[in-house]
Amino acid sequence: MSDEQGRRVGLNESLFRQVNEQIESLNHGFGADLPTLTVICECADGDCAERIEMAISAYEQVRADPRRYIVVPGHVVQEFESIVEHTGGYDVVEKRPGEAAKLAEETDPRS
Ligand SMILES: [Zn+2]
Repeated sequence: MSDEQGRRVGLNESLFRQVNEQIESLNHGFGADLPTLTVICECADGDCAERIEMAISAYEQVRADPRRYIVVPGHVVQEFESIVEHTGGYDVVEKRPGEAAKLAEETDPRS
């Protein structure tokens, strides 16, 4: 895949990351302080809307690193990212250095 494809992959993923940030803040807004959060798969596939239930503390941990994303197991794009954590319900992937990693950092909603 080219740099251009890397960019597209990164854009899709950062879009879903923003959606998930909104889900999380809504969650806080309800004052429920639920221990778990249902987020949307942050993979490169723009049509994927699979849901992942995970602990908020785990979500926060992933979000602390702008190059990390949460995906449904198997939704990793090996060329651009590697799996750093594998759990029953989801995988945490980290962008390999390059265009997609740069973009992931540029679009970090928390920076
Ligand atoms: Zn997916």
